Amino acid sequence: MTSDIQQSALHILQTVFGYPAFRGQQAEIVEHVAGGGDALVLMPTGGGKSLCYQIPALVRDGVGVVVSPLIALMQDQVDALAEVGVRAAFLNSTQTFEETLRIERLVRTGEIDLVYVAPERLMTQRCLDLFEDSHIALFAIDEAHCVSQWGHDFRPEYIRLSILHERFPHVPRIALTATADQLTRAEIAQRLQLDEARQFVSSFDRPNIRYSIVEKTNGRKQLLDFISAEHPGDAGIVYCLSRKKVEETAEFLNENGIHALPYHAGMDYALRSNNQARFLREDGIVMVATIAFGMGIDKPDVRFVCHLDLPKSLEGYYQETGRAGRDGLPSNAWMAYGLQDVVLQRRMIDESEADENFKRVLGSKLDAMLGLCETLSCRRMRLLEYFGERSGPCGNCDTCLIPPVSFDATVPVQKLLSAIYRVDQRFAAGHVVDVLRGVQTERISQWHHDKLTVYGVGADRSEHEWRAIVRQVIALGLITVDHDAFSSLKLTESARAVLKGERKVELRQYQKPVKQKRQAGPT
Ligand code: ADP
Ligand code: ZN
Repeated sequence: MTSDIQQSALHILQTVFGYPAFRGQQAEIVEHVAGGGDALVLMPTGGGKSLCYQIPALVRDGVGVVVSPLIALMQDQVDALAEVGVRAAFLNSTQTFEETLRIERLVRTGEIDLVYVAPERLMTQRCLDLFEDSHIALFAIDEAHCVSQWGHDFRPEYIRLSILHERFPHVPRIALTATADQLTRAEIAQRLQLDEARQFVSSFDRPNIRYSIVEKTNGRKQLLDFISAEHPGDAGIVYCLSRKKVEETAEFLNENGIHALPYHAGMDYALRSNNQARFLREDGIVMVATIAFGMGIDKPDVRFVCHLDLPKSLEGYYQETGRAGRDGLPSNAWMAYGLQDVVLQRRMIDESEADENFKRVLGSKLDAMLGLCETLSCRRMRLLEYFGERSGPCGNCDTCLIPPVSFDATVPVQKLLSAIYRVDQRFAAGHVVDVLRGVQTERISQWHHDKLTVYGVGADRSEHEWRAIVRQVIALGLITVDHDAFSSLKLTESARAVLKGERKVELRQYQKPVKQKRQAGPT
């Protein structure tokens, strides 16, 4: 029996999809679901999730229903399936009523293999009735992390998908996502009533992606240097936090001879879709975008993903960077990160409407992100560890290739902490650094801060060096940035031990930005 399923699954893989063999856990997943089991599949972007439900849908009798939030991509998915001879269709709000009736008829008569529906559509009485009248092979819930309230892709309609289990208890369900921290995983299982489902957790390692995080001095310029040096003529994605920055960065790149297009949710829909289509079809376009861009985008030869602003969490960062190198060839994930990012992200959490518990979760996600930025060890190790995987140093990230130099920063950190204390914890980083460096400014004389004992005690370090220290000390949680209008620095409880000389602080040495060298790739 089991081997029958295995055989027909392999046969479909080879004859329909044209691939010689299953990859990673695909074979196991396909067998389990085709045999009627529920599954929760965690696989990185590009890992090959689609076949995990497409093949069982073909092996089993009836129609496979794919729930997906990505209406804009349904047409592409259906076209791709039609090309290999799989009978697929979708039901969504972009269709005419006649078209809807036609598809519904095909579902009822079973003359179709796969039907894609948006979650809000699935929840309509009409759609649920249709599926009850039809023979359903399975339900695939794609992008299942959308059920998580902690994630940035939260879709309230996803929560209602638990109804599938109640209304169709005998139809197997497979939920899939590329987001895999423990919290999200547990949330998916609980909210979709998949506690009994078998979990398939693939390795999240993407060995062909080289991770680098540089200190931000002039982000745009650094980005331009990076693209010019390592990726001339390549396709890539540049993520920015705000719509305005997206527009400005795209313009800047174009002015400097790099073919860039903007993408954000505030743009006219037609223009936005057109830019997305061009990015997919044409060669060598750099998409400058907010995180609104990218979910479900299947472009295998994205050679680099850059972040000009700090992402909110490692899940987001990993998902975004995972869009590079889906074809397995060497690719770069590059980020420029600075003090301002830390200040801004902390402030966004503090000022959000969320309740305290929610803020705490957001805060700890940000801490994990900062941990990656400031780590003295292998970036990949840190990332994989966060997703529950153990590994050794990878040899293909910036910290492995050029190990960061650390130094005993206890004394300068003590100076910084005292300066914050002496200015009554009422001033922002810029002013505190001016005090340490003994700079003459109007504000310093106005507040008589040149009379303080800490005035000028840090004159031996540059402004950049001090900012790098402040940033790391915030990341370590020794100081916080107040969410008052001034972003003033405040000491935390942990600062005390350092001030009293009971705790040493090891920090990353500030390194002057060096020109990027071209990455050695396959010749
Ligand atoms: P995901 O949804 O996990 O991001 P996809 O299902 O889009 O990934 O698959 C990523 C790419 O890998 C696609 O181009 C797909 O055709 C290819 N692929 C998937 N499974 C296999 C396989 N067993 N052999 C070869 N290529 C595969
Ligand atoms: Zn490494």
